Amino acid sequence: MLLILTGCTAIDAVTGQQTRNFYSLQQDVEIGTQVYDETIKEMRKQGVPINADRARVAQLKEMVRRISAVSDLPNLPYEVTLIQTNIVNAMAAPGGKIMVYEGLWNPKDGLVKDDDELAAVLAHEIAHVNCRHSTEAMTRQMLLNALFLGATIFAQAKEKDELATALGGAFVLYNGIWVTRYSRADETEADSVGLMYMAKAGYDPRAALRIWERAAQQRTGHDPADSIFSTHPADAVRLQNLRTKLPAALAAYKASPYRRS
Ligand SMILES: [Zn+2]
Repeated sequence: MLLILTGCTAIDAVTGQQTRNFYSLQQDVEIGTQVYDETIKEMRKQGVPINADRARVAQLKEMVRRISAVSDLPNLPYEVTLIQTNIVNAMAAPGGKIMVYEGLWNPKDGLVKDDDELAAVLAHEIAHVNCRHSTEAMTRQMLLNALFLGATIFAQAKEKDELATALGGAFVLYNGIWVTRYSRADETEADSVGLMYMAKAGYDPRAALRIWERAAQQRTGHDPADSIFSTHPADAVRLQNLRTKLPAALAAYKASPYRRS
């Protein structure tokens, strides 16, 4: 267990701080590519059109190229795919594979209405990739499992059945709490980091506030589990964080050599 605890520190490319990640960046790419390939294959099998709208795909590719170029890990094999379903979402696998669902543009209940707003969504996803949130979460999960499994085995070896049951219960409880708490922190970090990426790439960062305010209004409380409204609850804390970070992002936007007009 000590080996696991000490053997997985890495330097976070975004913060420059030490972070716990049991996986290498190369493994991020391998895991992400595998997940991505399997997802796309499954979608094709179900007859979902992939990259059918060529103009939109070209636009997505160009935007991902621009935003990833100013990110902290510009050399990852970034790739973006357009999935033609009415789900309102975009997601990134570790290592830089991004999927965008066409529902994002739905005029009625979609999320984006212009290029800057689309850039805000893509920059948020690219931030998750740079912060390596997926494999960090997997690492936390492994450590928790190891910790509680070790304690449970210890208790069982001592034939203290009650203690083993109690530890098992605590494991389930802590699992839920930690994962939820950390993923909210990850969302906040992706918002802050993404805001700077889009600004540096020459997209107006005020668009990020616009879309998350819109998301807060459009949430119905019974959104499909796979929509961006469910995976990215836009609450007051989230909007406040974006407002706090906006002045710095606006300065980066005004200084960006890539800014249009
Ligand atoms: Zn996110």
